[in-house]
Amino acid sequence: MWQVEIDKDKCTGCEECVNGCPAGVLEIVDGKSDPVNIDECLGCETCVEVCPEGAIVVSEG
Ligand code: SF4
Ligand code: SF4
Repeated sequence: MWQVEIDKDKCTGCEECVNGCPAGVLEIVDGKSDPVNIDECLGCETCVEVCPEGAIVVSEG
């Protein structure tokens, strides 16, 4: 089970992570990224790599 934490103070809602995620985990909710489909997460960290704000941390837990 993967966990995706998004720092809402850093997130600008640019959608880079939403578009980059191969599993459809992330959506923009109220202007910020949110891991609405966390059960589908592959732990690939593409979202971490594409986020220009360094707002995402992926961990296993
Ligand atoms: S780690 Fe990969 S699968 Fe999980 S939310 Fe990020 S981009 Fe999507
Ligand atoms: S890529 Fe980063 S800044 Fe852009 S929407 Fe995703 S978490 Fe927010």
